[in-house]
Amino acid sequence: DSDEDGGEEYLFKIVIIGDSAVGKSNLLSRYARNEFNPHSKATIGVEFQTQSMGIDGKEVKAQIWDTAGQERFRAVTSAYYRGAVGALIVYDISRRTTFDSVARWLDELKTHCDTTVARMLVGNKSDLETIRDVSVEEGKTLAEEEDLFFMETSALDSTNVKKAFELVIREIYNNVS
Ligand code: GDP
Ligand code: MG
Repeated sequence: DSDEDGGEEYLFKIVIIGDSAVGKSNLLSRYARNEFNPHSKATIGVEFQTQSMGIDGKEVKAQIWDTAGQERFRAVTSAYYRGAVGALIVYDISRRTTFDSVARWLDELKTHCDTTVARMLVGNKSDLETIRDVSVEEGKTLAEEEDLFFMETSALDSTNVKKAFELVIREIYNNVS
């Protein structure tokens, strides 16, 4: 795809999945708008946000999808996954049940997307060190077993949020260019 200047245009769809209340919506609002909401409701209603970054002097746009709460009812639809080339699978480091659910989310991803999708495991809420329930090592090990990138993040204090999204976007770019 070329624009009038002869440059290439890139638009990548990325989905965020994981159990309810792990911080998916806040990771997106932190990345796209540098905002954090301590009282965020399950349904914010935003389907996706588009965020650009430069790679090799090119503008690369990521269209990042948020579930708007369907995950509560295990009703994330195939339309949500359609066309995705990247995925963040998020758990909450202070709630082990959300880490145990990662396997199910990976299965669902495999059902809906092909194997080339760039995948990152994200242990969010790294600021909650005092009530940590999943060790960094466990996250790393699972990521290695499943061949995922891995990062712990905090949407609250911004740690690694930009890094995580940009690593996925870069990986997708490398896969297609
Ligand atoms: P979602 O259901 O996965 O979209 O989760 P939300 O983004 O709505 O967040 C659920 C709750 O966790 C909200 O009260 C957020 O304020 C809180 N939260 C989200 N990210 C973080 C984080 O990195 N650290 C802490 N301490 N709380 C967070
Ligand atoms: Mg949400």
